[in-house]
Parts: sequence; structure tokens; C-alpha cells
Amino acid sequence: MPIYEMHCRACGRDFETLARITEETIPCVHCQSADTYKHISSTHFRHADHWMRNMMGAMHKSQERDQLKKEMEKAVS
Ligand SMILES: [Zn+2]
Repeated sequence: MPIYEMHCRACGRDFETLARITEETIPCVHCQSADTYKHISSTHFRHADHWMRNMMGAMHKSQERDQLKKEMEKAVS
């Protein structure tokens, strides 16, 4: 199942979601707003480092996600 990178316009935060390929709106995990959109590839090119990690680090994706989650929890606490 693909992982989508989402951005929330309401609170301005990013999150990842597991989802089917669908046009259905995915609510923000932070504020439950429906005003979200999937990051598109051009965004990934602008954020080359993040994009590279997505492409090259697929094998370590679950570890990376755990680490990102920890960092996010640290940032908000
Ligand atoms: Zn939000």
C-alpha cells in the first residue's frame, strides 16, 4: 500500500498516510481538517533531500518513519 505525503492547509503541517489511490479527501491527523492535499512530485524536487531519502531509503522507510515520529513528538512537546 502506498504512503502518501499530505499537507494540511488548515494547520500548515505535513503528515503521511496509508491510502488507496483515490480522490477522496484524507483528513489531517493533527487537526482533522479536510483541507488537505497530496504532495506532488515537483514539491519533492524542490525538497531534494527529502525526495532522495524517500527514493533511496525505501528499505529503511519504517525506521525512518519511527524516527520522524519521535522528532515530531519532540517538536510539539
Ligand atoms: Zn491540520
